Amino acid sequence: MSKPSGNADAQLDPKLTATPNRTDWQVFNLKCMSESELLFEEAKRLYEAWLGEQGYTARQGQLDMMRFISQSLTRKQARIGVVEAGTGTGKTVAYCIPAAIEARRQHKTLVVVTSTVLLQRQLLKTELQQLADLFSPALTFGIIKGRRRYACIDRLDKHVSSISGDSVDLFGNVNPSRTDRRIAAQLLDQFDDRKWDGDMDAAPISLTRRHRSSFTTDALGCHRQSCEFAKPCPYFRARKKVSALDVVVTNYSLLMAAGREGIDMLPAPEDCIYVFDEVHRLAEIVMNSGAVSSSTSAVIEVVDGVEKFINWLMSNVESGHPLSSAHQDILGIAPQIPPLINELREHFAQLTRTSAIEPDSQRKVFRFVAGQIDEATNQKAQMLASALGGLHDVLNELFKTLDDARANLPMWIQTEVLARAMRSFTELLTTLREFNSLFADWGSASLGASARWLSSEDEEWRMHTVPIAVDEILNDSVWSQAHSVICTSATIYSSQGFNQFKQEVGLNLPDEQFNRIASPFDFRGKVKFQIANIGFSQPGGEAFNRAAASHLPQLLISNRSGLVLFTSRFDMIAVYEQLPESFRVLCVMQDELSMAETLRKHREAIDSGGQSYIFGLVSYREGVDLPGDYCQHVVIMRIPFSVPDDPVIKSQKELLGLENAFMQYDVPQASLRLFQACGRLLRSESDSGTITVFDRRIVERRQYCDELIRPLPDFEIVDLKKLSIP
Ligand code: SF4
Repeated sequence: MSKPSGNADAQLDPKLTATPNRTDWQVFNLKCMSESELLFEEAKRLYEAWLGEQGYTARQGQLDMMRFISQSLTRKQARIGVVEAGTGTGKTVAYCIPAAIEARRQHKTLVVVTSTVLLQRQLLKTELQQLADLFSPALTFGIIKGRRRYACIDRLDKHVSSISGDSVDLFGNVNPSRTDRRIAAQLLDQFDDRKWDGDMDAAPISLTRRHRSSFTTDALGCHRQSCEFAKPCPYFRARKKVSALDVVVTNYSLLMAAGREGIDMLPAPEDCIYVFDEVHRLAEIVMNSGAVSSSTSAVIEVVDGVEKFINWLMSNVESGHPLSSAHQDILGIAPQIPPLINELREHFAQLTRTSAIEPDSQRKVFRFVAGQIDEATNQKAQMLASALGGLHDVLNELFKTLDDARANLPMWIQTEVLARAMRSFTELLTTLREFNSLFADWGSASLGASARWLSSEDEEWRMHTVPIAVDEILNDSVWSQAHSVICTSATIYSSQGFNQFKQEVGLNLPDEQFNRIASPFDFRGKVKFQIANIGFSQPGGEAFNRAAASHLPQLLISNRSGLVLFTSRFDMIAVYEQLPESFRVLCVMQDELSMAETLRKHREAIDSGGQSYIFGLVSYREGVDLPGDYCQHVVIMRIPFSVPDDPVIKSQKELLGLENAFMQYDVPQASLRLFQACGRLLRSESDSGTITVFDRRIVERRQYCDELIRPLPDFEIVDLKKLSIP
């Protein structure tokens, strides 16, 4: 649409001018506005249109958040804004509108990154759907996930056309069973009939984890343009579609993998306006996405697999073929590896015997203080990295030769042999690459900031590396690269204010780039927050669990629903098993079912007029939405402190060099988690209920209880000093 000349909207993108005609006075005002004011005005106009269409009334929190985001996105530099939006703010609409307007104006892609499928679905099915037509032309949006979330048509086809069933080949590859072939055929039919687009999360049949792995592939296993299904390939279709969208919804793991491995699933960071939702999980996800671990026996197994594989391959090709030199190279490198691994094992045994590294006898974990590995381990790892790297490179070349052979099948290899070889290759190369990166890290001359530790089980050693310099990783891949970034969540502000978040993710920005939008909920009027007393000043142990199990029915029975949150699986099961039978039948425990199934069962019980109480761990503390009657009471068994012996947390504290790690690290972390747990109760303005904490340290340990309570919403806190729960 072209704009009439002289219209003040000339400063905005022509696509955004589907507004009612403005008066001269409005036009004059717009001319005098700063960029951020202009963006906010435009966002407000669309917001009002959205309110009108949906029949909602304006929320001050949404307007405040839109204004803050407009300011953040129009800064001359460091276009980054961090905003904590209290529960019930309606943050998705508040960021989508200004960020989508600015993305169009700047010819960028708005990339909304979240950590839960729940929020991704909500964005696609609700907010973006409702907002799309308010833009002119309509906003286009979609989702992109990792390659393993899309069916590989080549793999489905191979399952269907395979002839043997239920047997295992030389390399442990299970030939498809009759059932697997039938399932693959059903999926292919649905795909061919255009009833299914190949999205594994929307598969028309219920699939096991094994099916998901067998019917998908990764970058190595994909034949790309030489694949006969490249054109209808769901993954490539999704990628192509994304490049033309205004708004792309994705998850953090994909974003981090794209940055780390240079995968071009998303536009380059400088062409993106990112919104990081549920950003309180960012540091943890960055660490997890870079984590590697391997047992020493797994290395020997894979090297053994490579030798068997190459010998088998050579026995299936004609003489004079191009694989001979690779065969010789592999036979030269592979036998060096098992003796090196055995040396390393002996060295680990000696290290842990002499306590040269920090032992944790209970969990059989041996941590290298500050991630610093001793010289002998370092040298041995270096040798292994070099051998494994060499093996990987030869195998990779071999893979390319065979991949080329697919397009133009030569006489020296048969089709069936080639197909089986390619399947084995994918697994071997992926594993070798992972092992190589682990040994390269442990054998590096300058060890990067990572937590490194050994764990031992059944005489076996497992090596672990988790990168902890999250600030550096994010600075290199996001903060210094992206066009602009908005970080948001309902829980960012801890007892240390925004400092902990700043420190964790490396955002050293002025205070004006941080904001808090208060929840519109009436916490004082709607929530009863009580500290129970069941005769223990601190939770844990058999006696506490027994007492908790005997008090819970009395506490919860007057409410139709409840969520009982634990920090340990052991305690959760112990309490559940000691509940009186009459009450236990009303409880659904996370351990027995998947989260989706647990929530389905719970909702079903409430919908049919019954009672139901969920027993859950950490994923229930922040990942569930149980409005109204689905959650009338939240019970918090223990203040959610970090596990004190966790090697990653210990290393992180060392890296940060804190004077008082408990007060500066543990307490703020626990306060955020407590806040998240409390956030499960009120999900809408009409909700009300009770929160009961069984951990009396919150009122009895004066030196930190104020810190824990201060960031919580304005609850009226009642200390039930009496032994029995009313
Ligand atoms: S292009 Fe790759 S992912 Fe797609 S069907 Fe072919 S092999 Fe599978």
